[in-house]
Amino acid sequence: MAKKSKVAQGELAYYAAMVPLQGLLPINVGLKPAREETMISALGSPEMPLTIQDQPDRASPLVKALKVTERLSINAAPTGIKPAIASLAGILKDAFAQEDQAGHDLESVLDDDGMLAVRYRRPTNGHPSTKISNHSWGTAIDFRLVGHDPPANTHGMIPRFIAVLLPFFNGAGWYSGISFSDTMHFEVADDTIHKWATDGALKP
Ligand SMILES: [Zn+2]
Repeated sequence: MAKKSKVAQGELAYYAAMVPLQGLLPINVGLKPAREETMISALGSPEMPLTIQDQPDRASPLVKALKVTERLSINAAPTGIKPAIASLAGILKDAFAQEDQAGHDLESVLDDDGMLAVRYRRPTNGHPSTKISNHSWGTAIDFRLVGHDPPANTHGMIPRFIAVLLPFFNGAGWYSGISFSDTMHFEVADDTIHKWATDGALKP
């Protein structure tokens, strides 16, 4: 066991290392953050008003009907709506496989920092908001490394684990929060929500 935890320590340092954002640009190409109007149109409104604290009972009836929890890695077992969890499972599987091929182990050090949370946004600039967080519909997820704080506004540098995940999320139609200074955050993009609605993926 001692050997295994030593390996994990090395992998933690590797994935926590900060890399220049510039090497990944452009990001979020052709994607937009999901607008509140889009989310309410597709999945209904949470029971208003909200606060900045999670109030699970206030989720919209459709979100409650679509809610699932699934173990996606050793550490991460997020709760979200069914199509988002299915999409996430594919993204993480592909990212873990790529890293494994390269001789690294992302799976054992990646953890989520919450997905479904029925609340207002908590902008990283600290100003209060009465806009509904996309976490309220279970289509947004935050990540961190095991034993680390989730990366908030990391400016021009981002931790390697986010840099690794980002192309997989963008490729699956998810928007990276880096564009609004929230490095830990990915959410199902506006057009992807519309597509899921059209395809019938948002039916319980
Ligand atoms: Zn978030």
